Amino acid sequence: MKYSIPSSFFLVLLAGVTAFGQASGGRSKAVHKKPVTVATPAPSTGLVVPSWLPPATPYQPSVTQLTDVTDTKLNVRFDYVHQYLLGTATLTLHSHFYPQAVAVLDAKGFTIKGVQLVGSRGDKSLTYKYDRRQLAVVLDHPYPREQSYQLRVSYVAKPNELPAGGSEAITAAKGLYFINPLGKEPNKPRQIWTQGETESNSCWFPTIDHPNQRMTQEITMTVEDQFKTLSNGLLITSKKNADGTRTDTWRQSLPAAPYLTMLAVGDFAVVSDTWRGKPIDYYVEPKYKSTAKAVFGHTPEMMEFYSKKLGVEFPWEKYAQIAVRDYVSGAMENTTATVHGAAIQATSRELLDNTYETSESIITHELFHHWFGDYVTCESWSNLTLNEGFADYSQYLWAEYKYGADAAALVQQQELALYLEEADSKREPLIRYHYQNQEDMFDRHSYQKGGRVLHMLRKYVGDEAFFAALNYYLIKNKYTAVEISKLRTAFEQTTGEDLQWFFDQWFLQRGHPELKISHSYANGQVLLRVRQTQDTLFQPVYRLPVTVTVWQKEKSTDHRITITKADQTFSFQVADKPTLVKFDSEAQLLGQIEEERTQEELIFQFYHARNYLQRYEVLDLVQNKTTDFTVSGLLRNALNDNFYAVRRAALDHLRGFHGPNTTAMRAEVQRLATVDPSSAVRAQALTTLATFPNENYAAAYQTALRDSSYAVGAAAINALAKSPKINAKTQISALDNTSNSTLLVAIANYYVQRGSMEQYAWFMRRLPDLTDMDLYSYLPAFGAFMVQMPVIEREKGVKMLETLARTHPQYFVRLGAYRGLTALAPSQPAIKSVLADIKLKETDERLKAFYNLM
Ligand SMILES: [Zn+2]
Repeated sequence: MKYSIPSSFFLVLLAGVTAFGQASGGRSKAVHKKPVTVATPAPSTGLVVPSWLPPATPYQPSVTQLTDVTDTKLNVRFDYVHQYLLGTATLTLHSHFYPQAVAVLDAKGFTIKGVQLVGSRGDKSLTYKYDRRQLAVVLDHPYPREQSYQLRVSYVAKPNELPAGGSEAITAAKGLYFINPLGKEPNKPRQIWTQGETESNSCWFPTIDHPNQRMTQEITMTVEDQFKTLSNGLLITSKKNADGTRTDTWRQSLPAAPYLTMLAVGDFAVVSDTWRGKPIDYYVEPKYKSTAKAVFGHTPEMMEFYSKKLGVEFPWEKYAQIAVRDYVSGAMENTTATVHGAAIQATSRELLDNTYETSESIITHELFHHWFGDYVTCESWSNLTLNEGFADYSQYLWAEYKYGADAAALVQQQELALYLEEADSKREPLIRYHYQNQEDMFDRHSYQKGGRVLHMLRKYVGDEAFFAALNYYLIKNKYTAVEISKLRTAFEQTTGEDLQWFFDQWFLQRGHPELKISHSYANGQVLLRVRQTQDTLFQPVYRLPVTVTVWQKEKSTDHRITITKADQTFSFQVADKPTLVKFDSEAQLLGQIEEERTQEELIFQFYHARNYLQRYEVLDLVQNKTTDFTVSGLLRNALNDNFYAVRRAALDHLRGFHGPNTTAMRAEVQRLATVDPSSAVRAQALTTLATFPNENYAAAYQTALRDSSYAVGAAAINALAKSPKINAKTQISALDNTSNSTLLVAIANYYVQRGSMEQYAWFMRRLPDLTDMDLYSYLPAFGAFMVQMPVIEREKGVKMLETLARTHPQYFVRLGAYRGLTALAPSQPAIKSVLADIKLKETDERLKAFYNLM
């Protein structure tokens, strides 16, 4: 699974929750930020407890397997009016080891019509107890494990009427979702789709809803003939019925965990591809049919790459991807049928702004799960990183293979920064047997830290051993559920080396190293001092194998060292004083590293960098010295770097630039705003231009308004909003019917600054077109805009924001509406009590924490 939250949401949330509010992604400063210093003494012991130490949570064992489900056959149809699924489930079961006289099934929020034991001489009704969460069926006799049996359950699933109780995440997760079921929303297609992970598929079919179960399946759906269907496995029959409906049957003959079952129904265009004779299909809304291959078209090449790299051919019968509306997550690796959010679809113009993060990294993530997650599955949510750490790491692997070392280094930087941001407020062991709720496991530890730990493991054992060990792990454990020891064993069997130390410090203990590095030179010797400054009461003293590169003029020598102590000095023989000593020159360590270097050494590092990270690091460290001649020269060169992220970072650091050759530098920024091949760089150049005083870049902004990239157009509008002397209202209002959300949000913000009464109608008119993601940014702008409105209009808007802030199903939309109201509070004091009441009644933990900080 991949979470997708507006990136600005994290910006806002983190600005509140942690000490720094730097956006995630290429421009994050987190790599170099100072370790946490806030500490609170524990009341009784006087022991100083770090602020990131989470409160004690309960032990979460793997679920005991009493009964196993080995096959599931469903026959379903849908009641759109009530949003019900009417189903018959035929489950093949057997006792796991000990004989069982009762079969306990997960079945949340059903009306049970009957339960029968399927027999060769006819079915037999069985008695059962049902508490609306679990169905306990009394069998006709205790079944030994050798004797499998079949139960047929007739039921109605009512995902909108789930019983209260259980965890908050479970009541929020419905498993089965009807989108625009009655066709009343004009801009929305009618769709049905499901989301099983973690344990929500039991909201629409009876099963044993744990990751340590595994079953084959067959799903028969009767739908309106105009709709397409999708489920796991292959479509084996499709027949039209006399009443205008159609019945499709999908069968998956390879076993997978119940949380990976899915179905989807709706008006989709299907674009077909193929890989080694297997069907590869992309399901999109019909208007995106022509660009589906541009979005998903790398899939066959990815399958080829991973099949070869892992030595295990993609094992499943087909691979389909579908984009659905109002999806509750980022994407989900349902076996052979990955679900994506609608945002992955793009028009040909939007494709110009597609970045690796918004599309390919999600596609590779879900595909890689088909080995790590679907083929070999974590046995409990405590071991989630065995799914998500690998899927996260595939984002690096594909970037490295397809786009080279710099692109991979950018992934490494972004993912590491995301983990370090989270680590500021919480540090948990990767394999976590204590947690409050299984949904808590879906954090930047399981994903981003997991991916970085795998990268360090790869760097330690070497590429050949790494992929050989993964091959061993996959083949040994295929179609089973595993815990972390299986991965360690695979690496130990492959390399012949005991790796307990690595798995213990990285997977089982919390935290990461915080290193201070310094070096000196005397008498033909470089002394490199490494201090581990992390709090070792709560985190280990790490054993860190790492490469140090010593440069002497143009010649570099790599030294492999292993740090094992809290304070350790290493010496290297050299002929002369080194030009640069670079610690962890592979940039593979997970940690916070402060490395002392002179400006001269940093400048040398920039020009001799082995990868993007080493160049970026220099830009980051010298950014306050732009008045220095060599630094400004370096930035000028960075503007012409081959890798777009270096150019973008240099532009970012040139905001407000004053220094040598100011005019020439500013002219160079202006040039990049029009000619750079990357739309991200052109957009950043415009943002930087807007920070230069006493300059009129009207021509550049107006050219950019006509740029084919929406991101560039939006950056121009944002720049124009900051330039009161330039009147661009006519050009901007000519764009304000756009269907592109980036542009729309920029225009909304422009109207906040430069709009008048007449734009009120525009704000109201555009509301119904917006997706949930758009609303998150649009609603605060709407609130800010309404400050200038007459009272009557304003009250209508306030009412609307209040309703959204209280009732919208997506928590980040509720937050957007709340922020809109906050903007209005100073001019309308009555809103303060409304805000207080919203805050009081909010049930989402993330929002509650955020509101408390606001
Ligand atoms: Zn995932």
